[in-house]
This record gives sequence, structure tokens and C-alpha cells, in this order.
Amino acid sequence: MADTNEVLALFGGPKAVQTDVGDIIDWPIVTDEDEQAILDVLHRKAMSGMDVTKLFEEEFAAWQGTEYALGFSTGTAALQAAMFGCGVGVGDEIICQSLTYWASCLQVYSLGATVVFSEVDPDTLCMDPADIEARITEHTKAIMVVHYVGHPADMDPIMEIARAHDIKVIEDVSHAQGGMYKGKKVGTFGDVAAMSLMSGKSLAIGEAGILVTDNLEIYERGIALGHYGRFNTDIQTPSLQPHIGLPMGGYKYRMHQMSSAMGRVQLRHYDERCAEIQKAMNHFWDLLEDVPGIKPHRPAKDSGSTMGGWYAARGLYRPEEVGGLSATRFCQAVSAEGVSCSAGINKPLHLHPLFNTTDVYGHGKPTRIANADRDLRQPVGSLPVTELMPKRCYSIPWFKHYDEQIIGEHAMAYRKAAENYESLLEDDPGDAEGMGGWHFFSHG
Ligand SMILES: *Cc1c(COP(=O)(O)O)cnc(C)c1O
Repeated sequence: MADTNEVLALFGGPKAVQTDVGDIIDWPIVTDEDEQAILDVLHRKAMSGMDVTKLFEEEFAAWQGTEYALGFSTGTAALQAAMFGCGVGVGDEIICQSLTYWASCLQVYSLGATVVFSEVDPDTLCMDPADIEARITEHTKAIMVVHYVGHPADMDPIMEIARAHDIKVIEDVSHAQGGMYKGKKVGTFGDVAAMSLMSGKSLAIGEAGILVTDNLEIYERGIALGHYGRFNTDIQTPSLQPHIGLPMGGYKYRMHQMSSAMGRVQLRHYDERCAEIQKAMNHFWDLLEDVPGIKPHRPAKDSGSTMGGWYAARGLYRPEEVGGLSATRFCQAVSAEGVSCSAGINKPLHLHPLFNTTDVYGHGKPTRIANADRDLRQPVGSLPVTELMPKRCYSIPWFKHYDEQIIGEHAMAYRKAAENYESLLEDDPGDAEGMGGWHFFSHG
């Protein structure tokens, strides 16, 4: 294996990564079992049915540890239903971190509500509990907590604040299925959780989303929004009963049964496959614990918290430890070693026109403030920690299998670049303003 005294590949030295990576990054793992389950749906012409979806929901609820699970066509829809389930409506506000994918919060517009963004903790990249309380107003209906790029959010203080103010908590688990916070599964802390199960995510079943809750009214409101086939006389919530038979929201959000069939198979293998991902990813970070400039993005080992599936895994960058070397230059050197590494992370949402100027529904003013009692927009500089994060993060490989040789070579690429930072300072182009992406995670 290469050692760090070798010349950087960027300057003509040998690449740290020499071994063919094979299928170590491939995801999801699809076998005959998935194929047979999907073919069964196809042959029975049951694509639009609900029998397989209901079985998937039962199994998912048992795995998640919640009373109810409701399947959706997408995670976007499931999260919108979670908001509707919590009673988010015209003039209401939700609090969400700005550092996330748009589908954690943008759906509030469709409910006549809006979003107030809060800061992240720079080590977890999840909502900073210390930055919530001051943002609560009489209009705040819910806090949307994102377990961002696999890391569990700090749920104890968040739940305490929410309970003290009688506000609902929604968890967006799209990045962290199966992750633990202090020994308990993420998605079981808030009033409701919802998540994407699309094929780029760690629990990947096609195109789908799911809502999980112990709360019957939230579950039934989730049905009311977009599941007319199930919005029937079983509904117990009195305020919904006059409307049964048609979806109140005007949407149709049924899960495709080829996805639910694949979901049943994927779920059966998920814990075992995740355990191997955990082992591989933790080994990668164990090899880099002492390296200047780079810091693992994962919970402390003895905390009872884990990363779940390590979706879109990132590393934390500390330029002050490497002479101010930019993340961009660091990633150039890592990539030259044979690992595809990119600097950045999601661009903060509060800076996008959709959250500042765009009039989506023709209110004659920006939708963000169309139903608000004040101008709650957040200009450049208003969330300084969040705005810095794209320069403080970089991608790392998402290993699905434990292979010491391959993982060791990849870790060496990061170590070599960081330990030889001095040689990289000279031609450092610096980080571009506005780096990162609003649709950062592309799914091919
Ligand atoms: C992917 C994603 C969603 C939306 O899920 P879809 O299934 O793509 O609609 C929501 N929130 C986060 C954080 C995501 O990454």
C-alpha cells in the first residue's frame, strides 16, 4: 500500500488507490428475490393494488417500532402528509434547518404555510438545538428535524423545547433509515416521521416514501391528504368523517406495488446489509482519526448513536489545521489519488430564490411570505454557521462491503492529501463562493 511519503498523484506520484473497487460502492443490492417479488406483482397485474403495500407497511411499522406506517409514492409526498397530519395550515410556520434537500420543507407552501430556517451544529450537520427557541412564534406549528447525511439529530433537547412550547416534531429520516440516537431508532422520537425510499437512499426500493407514527389522527390525516382508496368508513377522526371517499388534499399518493414488493425484500436484508456498511465506514474513519484537517462525521462510539445507512456520507473539513488549504484544492488532490471526491454539500436553502422572491401560486408576492404576518426571509449572512458548511465538507466513498485492502487504499488517498497539504498551498484556487448544490445529491 502507498505511504504518505510518496509524491502526491497530483504531482506525478503513484495513486493511493490501485485495487479495482468491484461492487463495493454499488447500491441497492438486487437479487433474484427482488426480481421474483416484482415479477409476481407484474404477472398478477397488481401494480395499482394495495395488498403488497399493506404487507410492506405492516412489516415496516414492526421494524421501525411504530404503531402505523403509511406508504407513499415519494418521500416528498410522505413529508407533505406529515406536515398536514400535524395540522400545518394557512399562516403557520415550521422550523427546519437550511442545510438540507428542499423536500424537507418546501411542501409547506402547498399548505399555505411557510418555513423559518435554523442553524446547524457544525459537527453533526444537524439542527442546532440552541438555535430553535428564539425562532418560535405564535404561528410555529412544527419543527422539522432532519437526520442529515446519516447523522442522528440531537433529539433530547429538541423534544424538550417542542414539548415546552406545545409544538409538533416531524423527523425527516430520508438520509438515516435504521440509525440510532442514544440506543433508540431515529424516526420514533417525534410525533411523526416521514422519509424517502427512492433508489439513491440507503433503504432503496424504487420510488417511494413512507410515514410512520403512533398517532392515529396524524395517520388518518395522512390518508385524508392523498389516499382516497383508503379514506373510508374505517376512519375514526371525527373531523375527517364528512369527507371520506375523496382525498381532502386533492392528491393521489398511492405507492406503486412494484416498489412495495421490492421494499419487503430490501427490508428483510436491510439490518444485515447496514451492519456491513457500518463496519466498513467506521473502519474508513478509524484509519483517519489522527489526520490534520479532516474529521469524521459520525457520533461518538460510546454514545449509543449510529449513522444508519451512511447515505451521501461526508467528511468534516478543518482548513485551519492545514494552513488554510481550500476544500476544493484538498479534493483535487484526493481525486488524483483515485477516489472521486468533491468539496461541498447542499447549498443553504435560505439563499435560493424560491425562499426569497419566487411567487409560486400567484399571490402577487413571494410565496415565502404570502401568508405570513411579517417578512421572515433570511438574507445572506443570517445563518453564518450554515453558510460556511459547503466549504467545510467533502464527499467520502459510500462503502457497502467490508474490504480492508480497498478501504485502506481509499483512506490513504485522504491521508496523503491532508498530510502533504503544504505542497498543495501554492496553486490553491480557493473555494468558489456559492459552492455546493441545491440538488447536490444526484441519483443517476
Ligand atoms: C430525498 C429526500 C427527500 C424526498 O424524497 P423523494 O422520495 O425524492 O421525494 C426528502 N428529504 C430529504 C432530506 C431527502 O434527501
